[in-house]
Order: sequence, then structure tokens, then C-alpha cells
Amino acid sequence: MNNCEEVLKKSNFNWGPALFLIGYHIALLVMLPIYLFKTSPSGQLWLSAFVLLYLTGLSITVGYHRLYSHLTYKTRPVVEFLLLFFGAMATQGSALKWSFEHRIHHAFVDTDSDPYSIKKGFWYAHFLWLFEKQKPIEKRVVADLMKNRMLMFQDRYYGICMILTNAAACLFVGWLTNDYFGAFVIAGLFRLFLLHHFTWFINSLAHTWGKRTYCQELSAVDNYIIAFLTFGEGYHNYHHTFAYDYRNGIKWYHFDPSKWIIWSLSKMGLASKLKKNQKHFIDERILLDRKKVLLDSLQSTYFEQKEVVREKIEAFSERAQQKLKQLKDLSEKYQSSKKAREGRVVLAQLKAQIKKSKKEYNDELENLIASSKDIISASVKPKPTTAH
Ligand SMILES: [Zn+2]
Ligand SMILES: [Zn+2]
Repeated sequence: MNNCEEVLKKSNFNWGPALFLIGYHIALLVMLPIYLFKTSPSGQLWLSAFVLLYLTGLSITVGYHRLYSHLTYKTRPVVEFLLLFFGAMATQGSALKWSFEHRIHHAFVDTDSDPYSIKKGFWYAHFLWLFEKQKPIEKRVVADLMKNRMLMFQDRYYGICMILTNAAACLFVGWLTNDYFGAFVIAGLFRLFLLHHFTWFINSLAHTWGKRTYCQELSAVDNYIIAFLTFGEGYHNYHHTFAYDYRNGIKWYHFDPSKWIIWSLSKMGLASKLKKNQKHFIDERILLDRKKVLLDSLQSTYFEQKEVVREKIEAFSERAQQKLKQLKDLSEKYQSSKKAREGRVVLAQLKAQIKKSKKEYNDELENLIASSKDIISASVKPKPTTAH
């Protein structure tokens, strides 16, 4: 409520988008019950709405986000055309504007300059920020994108592109299902409602609820439930730590349809230069992050054995780093031996060494994390007062 009043008080209230967003939410609230009361929607209508939801959602994540904002891969004009077409239908602004604001979000995350900073509150990050007029596009931030003619066309004629793509989608679904009102309510308004809130979850929920696996200083979190709702963008702590990676969920079983689409496009020759982190580099980042957090909390804690614990942390992390290096060398050796088609015995020996080295590394990491117990137990003891 406070956030709402604050936004309304400001003179830079963004009337156009605010009225549109409020207007279509009210229209949906009125029309959906009337429609459901009068008709029972066909399976075909639900399926069409679901397909449109995915096409528009993936255009934002695969296109606006991973292609244009972060340049994590390159693609062919035909794919770009489809991404910009369904991106306009997603009704989230032009790709140029979206990418500009998103690049600013990454550069100034969790500060006042972040356009949808979670520090200004959950609902502000979710959608209230859209009610404020945003900074105009700074050319230096998106100079690379401004050379793209197709993207600039979409930016220039965004309003008309947005209206025409949505109208075409509703008319097509209406023709397909012979239910034009249903197409407008379910495949138009209801699909847009789900799409908007699912995308907005990335700025609100994915900065609030989950684990900070790779960088504990960031508000961004990893949460597989959010990944299901956001077309794979729920591994947001990873994404903020390594924004150049075309993946968000790095394990094969992580739900990340955006990553699967980009990978599939590359296999079809429609995408190239997919940027991807090496595993040892990610592990090293986790290790250094844990070490930093421990040293920082040690710094702010009073206790007599401080120096001893600090030395312990340094020693454990040094050893863990050595083990990590050993693991990387062994993995590289295994890969080159596999390529050279060396015998089974050699490969089995290397595999056993990798297993042993992994265990040693995990033990050192455990030792490092266990150091935090010393700090926590010391911090609960009160600081002794000096007698006068
Ligand atoms: Zn974020
Ligand atoms: Zn991003």
C-alpha cells in the first residue's frame, strides 16, 4: 500500500502503461467469470492459449533476455524475426527498451539505479516499477543493438506491432475454435495475465525466495519452482553471477526450456557461438564466495581466537583450490585420453582418480564451511567488558 501511494505521489507517473495494465486486469476480472458461466471452453482453446503463452514467454527469455540483453549466442534472421514477432505479442515493450532496462538492472542490481530493485519492495519489483516513467534509452548501453535493423524496426513501430500481433493471435484462435469471444478472453487476456505475472516473478520472487548458490551478496536466488513458472529463468543467482552463459539451469535436469531451445537451434544450424561456463570455473567461484562470506563475518565478530580461525579458513580454501586444480587437470586428461581412444584400463584408472580427487575436494569444502560454526559459536558469547 505504501509503495502504491509513493508511486502515485510522484509526478513521473507512467499513465499509458499503468492504465493499460489496470484496464486489462479489470476486463479479465469481469469477462472471465461471465465467459466461464456461459460456456465451457474447449480443450482446443486451452491448448491454443497454452501454446501462445509458451511462444510469447520463450520469445522474452530466449530472445529479449538471452539473445539481446546478454548476447549469449548468435542466431539467424529467420529466428530473430520469430522472436521479435512473438516478443511484440508478449506486450512487455520493445526488445531495445527491454534490453536497455535489463542491462541497467544487472549493472546496478540492488541499488537505487536498478529500475526494478527488490530493495524498494516485493510489489515494486514485481510490477509497480512499471507505473513510474523510466529513464530514456542511453545509446551507449545498447549501441550494439541499435545496429540491428530488424530490432530497430520493432522498436520504432512497437505499438502497432503489439496490437496487430495480439489481434492476429485472437482472430486465428477464434477461427480455429469457432469461439471468438473465448479466444479474446482465454488466449488474449488470460494468456497475457499469466505471461506478465510469470515474467514479473523473475524480478520479484527470483530476488526473494530461494538459495544463493553462487554469490551470497546478491539478492538473486535459485529456485526450481520459479523455474517452472518462468520458462527456465528461476536459477537467477547463477544468472546474475554468470550472465554471459546461455543457460540458467546448468544441470541437465534443471528445468530450463529456454536453454533447450537455444541448444536445439544450434543443432539445427540456426544458432551458433553459445557461451557456456566451464564446470571448474563455477566450482572455483563457489569456493571463493564461501571464503569471502566467512572472512567478512569473521571481521564483524568479536572473539579471542579470531586469528586462529582466519588462518584455518585461509588454509582450507588454499587446499580446496589445489584440489580443484587437480580435478580440472584430471578431467582434461580424461577427455583427451577418450578422444585419443586409449584403452579401457587407462580410462578406468583416470575415472577412479577423478572420483578420489572429487571426494578430497568436497572434504576440504566441508572443512571450510565448518569453520563458520566456530564463528557462530563465538559470536553468541558477549564481548567482555573492560574493568575500570
Ligand atoms: Zn535479476
Ligand atoms: Zn539477465
